[in-house]
Amino acid sequence: VKDPRIDGIKTKIRVVPDFPKKGIMFQDITTLLLDPKAFKDTIDLFVERYRHMNISVVAEARGFIFGVPIALAIGAKFVPLRKPKKLPGEIIFEEYELEYGSDRLEMHVEAVDSGDRALVVDDLIATGGTLCAAMNLLRRVGAEVVECACVIELPELNGRERLEGKALYVLVEYQ
Ligand code: AMP
Repeated sequence: VKDPRIDGIKTKIRVVPDFPKKGIMFQDITTLLLDPKAFKDTIDLFVERYRHMNISVVAEARGFIFGVPIALAIGAKFVPLRKPKKLPGEIIFEEYELEYGSDRLEMHVEAVDSGDRALVVDDLIATGGTLCAAMNLLRRVGAEVVECACVIELPELNGRERLEGKALYVLVEYQ
């Protein structure tokens, strides 16, 4: 049964055609953030799912908008996965492909312990490259990735297949 809050969340996501280049249907979550009720519903849905799953670390790449409030609410530490040259400590990195370009994610090695139970959060899964890179970073330091969670999935891009069977929880699908 679909949660009644999902439709309210969906209507607050602005779809911008041909941004940042022709053919991309850009899912703009900044309009969701402007609506305190829909934003809170989004965080609440994740928190209700993950609060009793013994998650010890929440990791998110580049944006940190959704992962931080989830981590605070479930009592987990938060680990940012960042663009190059943002983290001053010892790092490991993964190169990854985007729907429009390629990039690299870095993570502080000492931030995650072997045996940590990780939740990987992102605003959106397109090709799955970002989540895949994030999972690899966590696994390389011995964490167990329990699940990935996204606000939006673009199912046509088959990003799920890149996750090698790892559970993916999404609130909204865009066809
Ligand atoms: P991917 O690694 O291909 O799964 O791409 C996911 C990342 O790229 C997310 O962090 C999104 O912020 C961004 N992204 C990719 N495609 C879109 C899109 N159509 N609309 C908004 N963001 C996107």
